Amino acid sequence: MKSNPSNCDILIVGAGIIGCSIAWFLRHENLRILILERSEPGGLATNAAAGILGPLNETDRPGPFLDLMQASLALYPDFVRDVAEASGLSPDFVPSGILSVATTREETQRLKNRWEWQNQHTPGLEWLEGNALKNLYPDLGPGVSCAIRYKQEAHVMAPRLLKGLLVSLAHEGITVRTGATVRTVRKAGKTGLIAETAQGETIRAAKILLTPGAYLNEMDLPLPVPPVFPANGQILSVRAPGFSLRTVVFYPPNGYFVPKLDGTVVIGATEEMVGFQTRVTPGGILEFLNPLKRVCPQLLSYPLQQTWSGLRPKSPDGLPILGPHPSVPDLLFATGHHRNGILLSPVTGKLLASLVLGKDPEIPLSPFRPERFA
Ligand SMILES: Cc1cc2nc3c(=O)[nH]c(=O)nc-3n(C[C@H](O)[C@H](O)[C@H](O)COP(=O)(O)OP(=O)(O)OC[C@H]3O[C@@H](n4cnc5c(N)ncnc54)[C@H](O)[C@@H]3O)c2cc1C
Repeated sequence: MKSNPSNCDILIVGAGIIGCSIAWFLRHENLRILILERSEPGGLATNAAAGILGPLNETDRPGPFLDLMQASLALYPDFVRDVAEASGLSPDFVPSGILSVATTREETQRLKNRWEWQNQHTPGLEWLEGNALKNLYPDLGPGVSCAIRYKQEAHVMAPRLLKGLLVSLAHEGITVRTGATVRTVRKAGKTGLIAETAQGETIRAAKILLTPGAYLNEMDLPLPVPPVFPANGQILSVRAPGFSLRTVVFYPPNGYFVPKLDGTVVIGATEEMVGFQTRVTPGGILEFLNPLKRVCPQLLSYPLQQTWSGLRPKSPDGLPILGPHPSVPDLLFATGHHRNGILLSPVTGKLLASLVLGKDPEIPLSPFRPERFA
């Protein structure tokens, strides 16, 4: 079904992984869906992401956030299979497992503390040290003393997944219009909403979903909206076709590397609150390359392929913002996914699709609702 440019059922503001995933879960609902994108789809965060799908590294405690991340990871195999079938593009989903390592006594203690609750919470984790660790991972440096292995965790090529979603949505007649910046949204009488773009267009929609990533507060909305800040992440890749370690590795304080199927290894990342700047600095890169010397020194000798940075959308409590505006229920938010928007994309798509259709979401959304910042 084609979208009418000035009238639609659902208007989605922002064609990142979140906006496109919501459209994906609504694609068979016979709705006229229009997605407006100010620049390039996924330009701010999605195309910058390392694509790690690793819930257990992302929180210090069990609870609703971990449940949400693990629910999303469980959706991933079907999600990527369906997107690949619909688009003909593989998103390079790899259930490689993730290793979280320690090199010093303090890091070991922190890892042990984490192991204590995680081993109770999630079955199938492994504690590795000594020869067991060295035999399984001979490419790790001698300074690595112990590790937790998360066998069920994975990674994906985020830009390829987004591309697959865009191609599939186009097949379903869902338009993504680029070069259209939604400036403001207002009520249209008793029901429905009107969006105005900076390019002078007015669009009427029954419901509007705000998925603009870090740019939410840059819009000129006549309503209170939750705060979202850009958290800059610097990251790089090396060309390492001979690198034989095939798992994602997290190392303290904030480093990780991800061996991709195309023979590159992605190494990251910083987190800096420097506004909307996207720049890469030698000091930033050193933050995660210096500790890598102890963890996997051979990675430092491969040719540098690319450096880049992106803007994670971060809420004050670091949790996503999901659900309707407290006083305008037809205006819905899905942003603030911070470090985990790729991981959380299928669950966000599914939950927001339920809300749009007036169904009860399968997972309680109360910890993530926008009104917690009211
Ligand atoms: C360096 C780095 C590494 C990361 N690694 C991982 C990882 O390993 N795993 C993981 O799960 N997550 C990771 N993330 C986080 C993840 O990338 C984000 O959480 C996710 O991409 C957010 O998606 P989004 O769709 O909300 O935002 P975006 O991808 O930023 O998309 C929002 C879109 O909205 C558009 N837009 C904004 N305002 C407007 C407007 N007014 N009108 C129209 N369009 C608008 C923007 O141009 C943009 O295209 C990483 C992020 C960075 C920066």
